[in-house]
Formats: sequence, C-alpha cells, structure tokens
Amino acid sequence: MKVLKNILLSVGGNDLQPADIYFSRVIKEVRYRSGKLNWDDIAEKEKKRRITGKIPKATYPKTAEVIDGKWSLAIPGAIDAHVHFNTPGFEDREDFDHASFAAAVGGVTTVIDMPCTSIPPVTNVKNLKKKLTALKNRSYIDFAFWGGVRSEDIRSGIDVEKQIADLSAAGVVGFKVYVISGMPEFSDLTYDEILKTAAMIKATGKPMAVHAEDKTLITNKRKQLQNNGDNSWRAYCEARSVRAEAKAVAELMKTAEATGARIHIVHLSSQAGLKKIKLAQKNGFSVTAETCPHYLCFTQDDFHNAAIRNYLKTAPPVKFEKDKNALWKGLADGTISFVTTDHAGCNPRKEKISENFWEVYGGIPGVEHRVSFLFSEGFKKGKLSLEQTVRLLSINAAELYGLSSKGKISPGYDADFALINLWKEKTVKSRNMHSKGKFTPFENVIFSAVVEKTFLRGKQVVKDVFGGKFVKAKD
Ligand SMILES: [Zn+2]
Repeated sequence: MKVLKNILLSVGGNDLQPADIYFSRVIKEVRYRSGKLNWDDIAEKEKKRRITGKIPKATYPKTAEVIDGKWSLAIPGAIDAHVHFNTPGFEDREDFDHASFAAAVGGVTTVIDMPCTSIPPVTNVKNLKKKLTALKNRSYIDFAFWGGVRSEDIRSGIDVEKQIADLSAAGVVGFKVYVISGMPEFSDLTYDEILKTAAMIKATGKPMAVHAEDKTLITNKRKQLQNNGDNSWRAYCEARSVRAEAKAVAELMKTAEATGARIHIVHLSSQAGLKKIKLAQKNGFSVTAETCPHYLCFTQDDFHNAAIRNYLKTAPPVKFEKDKNALWKGLADGTISFVTTDHAGCNPRKEKISENFWEVYGGIPGVEHRVSFLFSEGFKKGKLSLEQTVRLLSINAAELYGLSSKGKISPGYDADFALINLWKEKTVKSRNMHSKGKFTPFENVIFSAVVEKTFLRGKQVVKDVFGGKFVKAKD
C-alpha cells in the first residue's frame, strides 16, 4: 500500500480540497483532510503556505510507503487522445521510447496513437498485432489506439466492414479518416466514401475521427499559388483556409445527420468550423471536437517571426485572433470536449529548414507541454475553471473513448496521477525537451504551472522502471 499525502484535489468550480490518496496499482481510497478551499484564497504562494500549514497532520499505516505531495494539485493522469508516436515505421522522426518519456515528464499517463503514422497502418487486426509487438517494453506510459480507414481499403474490395468490427473488438477507441491527407501511405476518402464508412463504424458504437479540411478547395488553391511560384507561409495559409475547414465540417455534420454515427472533428482551428459543430450538437447529432494548444496560443501573425515560423507549421494551420478566442470559449462552454496535441515530431535540422513553406514538415511535438500549457494559459488566465481544466486533460477523453479504468481519482480506477505545482513557473526550452526531435513554437514561453511528478498504475514514472501497456477501449 502507498499513500500520496498532502495533495489538493479539484472538487468543482475553482474549489480544492486537501486529501490523501491510498493506492496500490489502483486507487483504494481518497481521504479528505479538511474543508474546501477556494483557489482565490490560496493563489498566492504565501497564503497557500499559511493555510495548508494549519491543516492537522494525519497518521498513516506503518507499513505504507508514504509520498509527500507537498500540497500540489493532484490530477488524474492526463490523456492525450491524438498523438503520432510513429512506432513502427517513421521512427527517424519520432518513436515511442522518446515520445512516451516526454509524455510522462509532461504529466501524461495515457496516449491514443493515430493509425496513419505507422507501417503498417492500423487498418486491420493483423497490423494492430504487429504494432503491439513492436511496442513491447518501449513505452513509459499506457497507450490506446485509433484504427483507420483508407480509400485504398475501400477501393480494393476487401471487407472493410469486417476490418472495422474486428478492430473494434480488439479494443481500438475509434476510427480515423481523412478528407485530405498528405500521406501516400494513408489516403484520404471522398465525402461519399466517408458517408459509407460512417455507416459501418456506427455499428461499433465508436466514433469516426476526421481530419476536416476540404480537399478540392485546398488542392485548387494550392495549384494556382504554386503555379505562380508562391512558396511563402502566406500561400500555405491561403490554401488551407478557414473556408476549407468550414466546408469539410459542414459536410461531416451532414454525415452525422444522415447516418447517426458519432463524428469527432480532430484539431479544430476555426470559429466557422466551431459554429457548425455547435449547431449540430444543438440539433441533437452525435458530434464532438478537439483542439490543440497551438490553435489556442498562436495566430498567423506569428508566422512573421522567422525563429518559430517553420516550427509552427501544421495542417490545418493556426488561424486568427477571433478563431483563437472562439476556441477558448468552445472549451469553456463544452462544445469542444478536450485538448490534444496532435504530437508529430521530426528531425528539425532536416525537415524544418526549407525556404519553401510547402515543403516544410508539418507537425509539432507537444505532448510534453500540454498540461502545463492548459493550467497556465487556460486556468490561471481565467479562461477555464479548475474543474474544466482537469476535465479537458483527462476525464472527458476517457469517457468519450471508453477507457474505463482511466481519467478519475476515485476508488477502483488506475492509480495514474500527475502532481501540478500551480505556484511555480517554467520557461519552455526546446533543448530541454524529451521527444526525439527537439523543437517547439513555444520556445521561451513561460508557463505558470509545472508538472512535478507522474504516477502510472501506482509507480512513479521515470523514477521507477516499468512498462506501459495497451489499454483496450470498451467494445
Ligand atoms: Zn494528427
């Protein structure tokens, strides 16, 4: 038996409650030590010290291993529901060994890895098994998987419906498809194919996650700009416009309406897309969305900064001030279910150096920074309550994707926690990152929240040696 003593738990709104957690591999008991505190009363370091100093000491069983939380905030181990850790396949860019370590350092205890950045891609159970074999003893944290559907699967005449059903039974959380894909190994679907695929996925009860940017609009614009020799960041952003995202989201809302399937929009970047999702939700369709720290922090103005320009490239690209503000509101009002990183690394010295922006690798390795980011920029700056922040980092994803042992500090759940120091600052430095490729557009940004310790199934990650395991989603 272990005890994590002297911690604060989020108990609704901006309230916290002093507590001790008793656990082994799972949580046994949460013992509250005294009444609720409000964040405003302890936001200053000195006030916190004074108030927590008066809490009567507790006694613990002699046989227990007692770990002192020093009155930091304990949150359920964070879940990053959208990452590209690339094992097996694209490991020159990123691999599970590095990325899962980076995740653990950043307070993340479970990731959900995308099917497309693997060779072979996770499109059937055979490939899923290959992935599981490749991951043996290579993850510091737990991992779940997305399955995926590509156009070549549909066009080759194989039984896609069976592949979907089998993958669901094997425990994937859902299925990823692309309206536009830059990956030759993972081709995009037409809207028609998406409609058919959604109907098949519906039978599993699991969501279809969609990269939503309209292919026709983007391709036409890109060709026109490239023909004019325009290789600037502006051209890239002009092609991958707000309009392109809004058009694809609108089509997908029709798919949700026509099929009743659960549709999840990944890495939402615009207010226009958000409005369409909000309307579909109001009309009772099963539609959810996520966004990422870069869309909440940066705008296209930041491409003027040559020091981070290439590091900031993603698909879709970051948008404008009003989009950024709308996304924060979407998180606060529940239209957007959680924040993921879309973690995608590369060797920056090889793939982030081109003067031709079309050729720059698109992707940000953010898994290490998300928890600090959301507490610092969301909670501490008053955009989200403490309760919302915690939900957006773990519980909501666990609930939406059926990871039933994850996401709560409650008896019976896995003993996964992260300890957050909300009274400390840290400057982001790429050289301190733990992912394989060390670069970030957040370079030199100061986060006013720091992840101190991470526990996975009862053991302190990084400190104790152990392996992460495959977490199956409920079938
Ligand atoms: Zn992605």
